[in-house]
Order: sequence, then C-alpha cells, then structure tokens
Amino acid sequence: MSLDTLRFRQKYYNTMYFLFKYLCLKLLAYFRYSLFFRMCGISNNNPHVIESKNEDIIPKSVNYHFTRICNYKCGFCFHTAKTSFMLDLQNAKAGLKLLTMEGMEKINFSGGEPFLPKKGKHLGEMVKFCKKDLKLPSVTIVSNGSLITEEWFQDYGKYVDILAISCDSFQEETNQAIGRGQGNKSHITQLFKIKKWCNQYNVLFKINTVVNTYNYDENMIEKIKELNPVRWKVFQCLLIEGENAGPEALRDAERFYIRNEIFNNFLKVHKSVDCLVPESNSKMQNSYLILDEYMRFLDCRNGFKTPSKSILDIGVKNALKFSGFDEVMFKKRGGFYKWSKEANRLDW
Ligand code: SF4
Repeated sequence: MSLDTLRFRQKYYNTMYFLFKYLCLKLLAYFRYSLFFRMCGISNNNPHVIESKNEDIIPKSVNYHFTRICNYKCGFCFHTAKTSFMLDLQNAKAGLKLLTMEGMEKINFSGGEPFLPKKGKHLGEMVKFCKKDLKLPSVTIVSNGSLITEEWFQDYGKYVDILAISCDSFQEETNQAIGRGQGNKSHITQLFKIKKWCNQYNVLFKINTVVNTYNYDENMIEKIKELNPVRWKVFQCLLIEGENAGPEALRDAERFYIRNEIFNNFLKVHKSVDCLVPESNSKMQNSYLILDEYMRFLDCRNGFKTPSKSILDIGVKNALKFSGFDEVMFKKRGGFYKWSKEANRLDW
C-alpha cells in the first residue's frame, strides 16, 4: 500500500471518529437536557413551540413585583433586591392599562415589600387606579404585613379584594431564624391585627406559608383555624438560580430546601384545614405571569429568571411571547378561583 493511500485512510478514519464523537456528544447533551427538565418537573417542550403557543395567551392574572426592596431578610427569598429601580406612578399606570386592554382581570401587587415605597402610598394609588379606573374584578396584594397600618385600610381598603400575608411560623424564634422579622416587632401580633382590619374594612384575608427546613415539623392547624383565612397557600421552598441559588445570587436557600416527601408530609398533617391550597415546585415554576420592576415578563422555565423586554417598549402581546407561561399548569394549580370580594360573597 502506498504512503498516500495510508495517509488518505488515516485522514478518513480521523474524520469519521470526530463525526461520531460529535454526534455522541450531541445525543448526550439532548438526553441530559431532557432528564434535567423532567427532574425539575418542567415540560420538555421546544421553547419555540411554547413561544408560538404564547401568542394565544390572554394575561388574565398577572403578578406585578413592582419593587425588589424589602425590610425583611428571609433566607430563601426568591425575588431579591438586585435593583432598587421602581417605575413612577404614571408609567406603572400606563402598563396596567395596557394589560387590561389585553384581557387582564386580576392583578396581584407584590415585591420586595409592596408597602415600603412611599409608606404604602405608591401601592395605594395603584390599587385605587386598578379598581376605580380600570374596573378590574380582582385586585390583590402579597405582603409581609409589617408596615401595614389601619390608616392605609381607611384610605385604600375599599379598592382591595384580597390581602395575603406571609407567615411561616407561629413561633417568633422560627420567624427570626428564617429572617422574617425586623428588630423586636412581633410578626405574629401584627398578623392578628391585620386579620382584624381585614374584617373591619371588608378585605378578604389570605395567608401564604413557605415550607422549609425550619418549619416543616410545625403543626399550624390551631392558629390557622383561629385566623380563618379565605385561602391558605402553602408553598414548597423554591430554588431560583441567580436569586437564591448559585454564585450570582443574593441569598443561598440551599439550607432551607426540603424534598417533595417532606413537603407532602406537611400537607398530610394539615389536611383538616379546608382552605389549604398546596403549591409544589413543579406547579409553581411556570404557572405565574410575573412582571418585574421594569414591567418585563420573567420566564422561569430554566430554573432562573429570563426577562422579556418591557411591555412599555414592545407591548403586552410581544412581551408575552417570552414569558414562559404554562397556561395548562396555571389551570391545574387552580389559578382561576373566586378572586374578588363579589365572587366570594356569592359563595357565602
Ligand atoms: S418578606 Fe418576601 S420579599 Fe421580603 S425578604 Fe422575605 S420573602 Fe423576600
């Protein structure tokens, strides 16, 4: 065999070898990608297919995290103070109007702590605008409760359908250990005060609890029944890359994270509480339409938050294509419920 033929064969074998290796690596990457998404409970759809599906989405229920600043320091917080930016009232109202024109029926204001900017006035003016001018059927708030005053209820209570307060424990030491607290103020005393004001000013009262390593074995039945919320939302501690996990994050929530079995056990212990609505990680990940402080939809499909462009720049329909919203999961987790005072009254 001549030297040229040998060289040619060698070259041929090398090329085939590299081609084979490339294909194997591609296949491996595909299977790892599928496995990762299955393990996270995320559907493994082609992102482009989801994007085209999103063209039909009507943003009926939207969560607007208008500030990232908070007075608490919860160790598992998954919407941390990465910026101090907040849209002014005029721009925020313009965005809320755009969303309503595209079919929004429920807005939830969240943070950070929504009662922090301008001592709750910024939030108050937005809820007033949504109820009075936009005539939204449901206006709700999620807060840690620490800064809420009776005066706020007097000024703005009539524009709010549901107020949800975070409470992970009825033991002050546990709240302190989690970071849910400020100074010596009692989170639990404030919670009971808010419940009283909600009754007084006709606002539906809700409680949100994050089950984590500090409270997974607490029995909260008695206190929850005493507070009698319309809904007790129980979440499994969620890890989000860049927020409470990974090198870029402001929090490290690994030590709070609990396995599915532990979460399910908490639910089992509390099954006698009728208003309990459980929310595991898989249900939570893509089933919310989340707007950040710039009014950008946040796509959480890959375990971290990828922002769209702002609805103020490209409009709601275009931004929705990048929201990663899973409408099927939204319905599965009971995203549509009696979310206004009127709907609840009809039920009584
Ligand atoms: S109260 Fe909410 S926003 Fe504030 S630190 Fe805790 S989890 Fe984060």
